[in-house]
Amino acid sequence: MSAAGPRRGSALWGAAKQRMAQAWGDHASGAVLPDIARRPHTASADVSGAPILRVDALRKRYGDQEVVRGLSFAIHRGECFALLGPNGAGKTTTLRCCLGLVDPDGGTIELVGEPVPKAARAARVRVGVVPQMDNLDPDFTVRENLIIYGGYFRLPREQLDQRIPRLLEFAGLAGKAGTSIRTLSGGMKRRLTLARALINDPDMLILDEPTTGLDPQARHLIWDGLRQLLKQGKTILLTTHFMDEAERLATRLAVIDHGTMIACDAPRVLLEQHVEPEVVEVYGEAARSWAEVRGRALCNRLELAGETAFCYATDAAPLLADLATRTGVRSLHRPANLEDLFINLPGLELRD
Ligand code: ADP
Repeated sequence: MSAAGPRRGSALWGAAKQRMAQAWGDHASGAVLPDIARRPHTASADVSGAPILRVDALRKRYGDQEVVRGLSFAIHRGECFALLGPNGAGKTTTLRCCLGLVDPDGGTIELVGEPVPKAARAARVRVGVVPQMDNLDPDFTVRENLIIYGGYFRLPREQLDQRIPRLLEFAGLAGKAGTSIRTLSGGMKRRLTLARALINDPDMLILDEPTTGLDPQARHLIWDGLRQLLKQGKTILLTTHFMDEAERLATRLAVIDHGTMIACDAPRVLLEQHVEPEVVEVYGEAARSWAEVRGRALCNRLELAGETAFCYATDAAPLLADLATRTGVRSLHRPANLEDLFINLPGLELRD
C-alpha cells in the first residue's frame, strides 16, 4: 500500500469497509453515511438548551426477553453521562438504539436534534463512537486506519491530513503514524480508537466500556483524554461497570438493571441520598465477632461480606475509638464512594 493510505475503490479499501460494516452492522458502512464534508457542521446547529440526546420510554425486546423496559433520560451539552449497571442490564442495547444500530420496539429517541432511527445516519455524522470491542483494522497502519475511517464521512484528504497529526498527538501516538496496528499495546489501540472517533469532529462521543481490559496506567491516560474533550465542550455518554471511572468522569449517572432505571443524578447527590458519608472497613480473624458484639451498635449500618465488615456511619469517630483498643482486626476509614452506592442502592439486584 502507498504511504498515503489505501485508495478509495481499491481491493484493500473494499475489504476494510466490509470489516468495519461487519463490526458495526450495515448502518455504519461508508456507503450509507451522508456526505458531511458538504454539510454545515457547527455546534450552534442544535436548538440552544435542548438536550443533545433525549431518550423517552425506550423499549427493546429480543425474542421473549424485554431487555430495555421504558428507559427515559436526557443528556445536555458538555455533560459526561455514565450508564452504569451489571452485565446484561441493557446498557449496550440502549447505546445501540440511540445510534440507530438496532430498532427499538417502543419510545422515542432524539440525537443531536435528529429523530432516531428515522434520521440515524444524519445523527451519526455528528457523533463519535468507541465500541466495546476493538475493531481497528489490523492490516493497516495507525494513520491508514484514521484515513479509512475519515473516508466513511467523505472528509476531504486535505482535512484529514490536517486533522490526523493533531489526533495522534492527542492520543499520545505522535510517533506511531506508520506503525502496524498489530504491534500496538491494548492501551494504544484504545487511544487510537478514541482518536478515530474524533475524526469527524463530533459534538458528542458515545463510548461503550472505554477502559475494559486496560491496566491502571492505560486507564488513566484514557481518562485524561476524556477530561480534555470535556474541557473542549464535547458531550460524553459512556457505559462502564467501573465505579471509579464513573466517579472520576461523570457529571451525572444513571444506574440501570433489567432494562429499567434504578437511579439517575449527580454522583454526589446519589451518595448523599443512599449512603452514609463515612465507611470503615474492618478486616481480620476477629472482624466478624467484633462486628456482632461491638460494631453494629457503633454505626448506622453494618454489612458483612466474607471476613470483612463494612460499617457505614454518619460519624465514624466512636467506631475508630473502639477499634483502636482491639487486637485481631485491621481497619480502613474512607469516605463513601460509588462502590458503596452500588451495594446499597435499593432495587439493584447483586449477582455474579
Ligand atoms: P449490558 O451492556 O448492560 O451488559 P446488553 O445490552 O449487552 O447489556 O444486554 C442486555 C440483554 O440483552 C442480555 O441479556 C443480552 O444477552 C441480551 N442481548 C443483547 N444483544 C442481543 C441480541 N443481539 N440478541 C439477543 N439477545 C441480546
